[in-house]
Amino acid sequence: MGFQKIIKNQTLEEVFQLGDLRDLSAVAEKSYVLEEWTVLAPDRQRQLAALLSWESLSKWTFDVFEVNRLTNGQALLFMGWAILASPHAQQAMQTSVLPAVVSSPSLDDTDGYGFLENMDISPSILCNFIRSIEKDYNKENAYHNSVHAADVLQSMHSILTRIGDERIVITELESFSILLHLLSGTVHRRVEHFSLVRELQCLQLKHSQDSTEVSGTDLLPFLLHAADISGSARPRRTAVEWTDRVLSEFFAQGDKEKKLGLPVSPLCDRAETKRAQSQVGFIKFVVQPTFEVLGMFISKVEEEINPIIASNLEMWEDDIALEHTDWGVSIV
Ligand SMILES: [Zn+2]
Repeated sequence: MGFQKIIKNQTLEEVFQLGDLRDLSAVAEKSYVLEEWTVLAPDRQRQLAALLSWESLSKWTFDVFEVNRLTNGQALLFMGWAILASPHAQQAMQTSVLPAVVSSPSLDDTDGYGFLENMDISPSILCNFIRSIEKDYNKENAYHNSVHAADVLQSMHSILTRIGDERIVITELESFSILLHLLSGTVHRRVEHFSLVRELQCLQLKHSQDSTEVSGTDLLPFLLHAADISGSARPRRTAVEWTDRVLSEFFAQGDKEKKLGLPVSPLCDRAETKRAQSQVGFIKFVVQPTFEVLGMFISKVEEEINPIIASNLEMWEDDIALEHTDWGVSIV
């Protein structure tokens, strides 16, 4: 299944309405400083400038919860801006935290995608677009909220930066479209996990046999799926936080179902569901197979991410033994 099929033969430009983000007035004064940035205290600006640097943004150990704390709950806006408006966002942040006597870093020396100039995207229209998306997320959800979207966005970015000299060709338009797409909640739907993994295994076999290039269109649905479930593939502390959040959301749903006299959905009954057990199943049957196939395409995923997943699995397996107490009652 190609990305093209998902979008029903429309071009990426049409699907993502990139024309709406274009800057039509060539003379428009462009500002790369977020309004929300200017009101932050100087020490928060300094911490964020470091956290949202290109190098930090690309790390698998990235702490999205810290960004959310430092930005008073605006992780998606700041992350979307930092990633999609790179390297301008990084240059603007660095310039504003440097003492006035130090000259600002040049754009040429700052790493980033360069989407804005390469695709004529207006920074202010892009920021308004992200603001409107962030507002649409339901803050009541413990898991499916704007922080999850910010996390999946960073996860995808982090995976994209790990593509090395493999024969994978993802165009700039594909990268931009997919990162933009991840801001919104539309990708967080149930996917056909098992068929996606099977298709990628076939593609990998073909890729290794005839050394053809793999295109972004072939790989993107799978990358989306991997990024979306990557909470359990993050370093331990972050993985545990995501686990608690997802179960908290499930249990809230289960409580509602019980109240309405409906059958309780799988994993949603706080009296029955065990944290470690649920994670062992999810990692073994969903996360690990996904990243194992991804690791066959991208060697840095195999080297850097898959050992973390194995270690998380081991941790949860050890925890199963302790799980005779009904800890779940306390997770509200
Ligand atoms: Zn999701």
